[in-house]
Order: sequence, then structure tokens, then C-alpha cells
Amino acid sequence: MADYQIVCVRKSARTPAGHQHIVSVGIGSGGTYTSLLSVADVYQMMRNGNRFYTVSPSTGAVAWVRALTCCGLYTLTTSPDHVTDNNLDNLSYCGN
Ligand SMILES: [Zn+2]
Repeated sequence: MADYQIVCVRKSARTPAGHQHIVSVGIGSGGTYTSLLSVADVYQMMRNGNRFYTVSPSTGAVAWVRALTCCGLYTLTTSPDHVTDNNLDNLSYCGN
């Protein structure tokens, strides 16, 4: 079991409801990702006791990532806190 920092995300196309879903996340540190995991990969790792988190670049605040079902789809979200720049939805895009 381990804790993994998510440093970037890839999202779905915008839904008719006007939002996007997280479809994959980049694991790493210092703003660069070393592996790209699908939501299914993350769910499997969570079932095995691993945890995922984000870190606010402004305050260093940690937000834990949890499973979320949205629009009937399996996706991910961060637990609410008072910091917005560690919100999973606000992380930068995982480039190539
Ligand atoms: Zn949704």
C-alpha cells in the first residue's frame, strides 16, 4: 500500500450537462508525471489499499482523491476543502 500524488489529469469531452469527467491521471511529483493511470487503474489500486492525493501549489494543502459516480459513469474527485488549486479538476493537462 502506498500514497500517490496526482500531478495532472486528462478529461472527457464536455457532457450535455456542461462539465467534464476525469478519465485518467498522471502520478508523479514536481509537476511531471511518471505514469498515466486510467480511472479503472486507480479504482483497482484503491481497492488494494492505496491512496491518491493532490497538493496545492499555493499552500501545500493536501486533498485526498476519492471515487465518484457522476452521470452514471465512474470517475474521480477530490474531497472538498477550502483550497481550489489542489482540486483535481483544476490540475493541468497530462501532456505527452
Ligand atoms: Zn457528470
